[in-house]
Amino acid sequence: MPPVHRPPARLSRDVGSRAHAAVQCWIESGEWLVDTKGQTLLSRFLNGSDHQDATSARKRLTASRLRFRVQDFRHYLVGGTPQAASCEITLRDGDLQLWGRPDIVLSGSDGVRLVDLKTGEWETPGDRLSRKDLRQLMLYAHLVRVSSGVLPVSAAVFSLKRGLLVTPVTKDLVSEVVDEVVAARKRWEGREREPRPSAENCKFCPVRLTCDASWHALPTWSEPDGVEGRIVRIADATAGGGALLVETAWGRSWVVEIAPAILRRAAVDDTVRILGIRKGLNAGARTTFVAGPTATLHVID
Ligand code: SF4
Repeated sequence: MPPVHRPPARLSRDVGSRAHAAVQCWIESGEWLVDTKGQTLLSRFLNGSDHQDATSARKRLTASRLRFRVQDFRHYLVGGTPQAASCEITLRDGDLQLWGRPDIVLSGSDGVRLVDLKTGEWETPGDRLSRKDLRQLMLYAHLVRVSSGVLPVSAAVFSLKRGLLVTPVTKDLVSEVVDEVVAARKRWEGREREPRPSAENCKFCPVRLTCDASWHALPTWSEPDGVEGRIVRIADATAGGGALLVETAWGRSWVVEIAPAILRRAAVDDTVRILGIRKGLNAGARTTFVAGPTATLHVID
């Protein structure tokens, strides 16, 4: 029987991490082969957890999830034949410079199977594998094939919250995911990065003015700091600054308190992008924006 691996000393005291470590020890010790009801697993988890502490409610919830799900999980582990299992072995594809560390790799006469453990609380609910789960599992499957020459027959997520979610592994799916990962890395290295517009990301971005993705996303932000559209009217400058009526994708909006120097660069029918503004009061159905001291206006058409 293989030696029992203890959780590393730096392991977090988070309940999910405790559950993860308990499952891992249960597998590596070979207890899973005989512990048909999962009682040893449960004891491992409970003995490895602090007793009366602030997380005891979470501990009870996690214990009851373990109790409820362990037989399904074990059934998958055992499969049709006796299995050998290894945990957290680092696998590499030197040619493509990929690596990964699947939680559990099982091998037996019915082939190789993979399991990814999800014992934490922060998981998207649902009883189907997400695209992200699938991508991770297929990437692991690729790494298993590179290191052992055998493509796993199936892969699963064992989630304490969502249960056991199994998917077949196919050559096509694995190739698709590997191609996708390699292409994404190339884009990243070539600085052709996918834009991810958000108020936080874009605020100080040097390419903001010309980034269409950011301008398209702007109307969906709760606090838009810019506006794009065609100038319909220019109001005379007053002591408080001038104003522009802009036809935007979501209706007409006034931008007020614009410094005269900025206003002089604008003409009716120009399409402009204005930054450095904040949402003011709604005048009727119309949103009013107020230009701040750093406001800028750029004519784009
Ligand atoms: S402006 Fe464009 S490139 Fe810059 S952070 Fe926003 S989305 Fe990304």
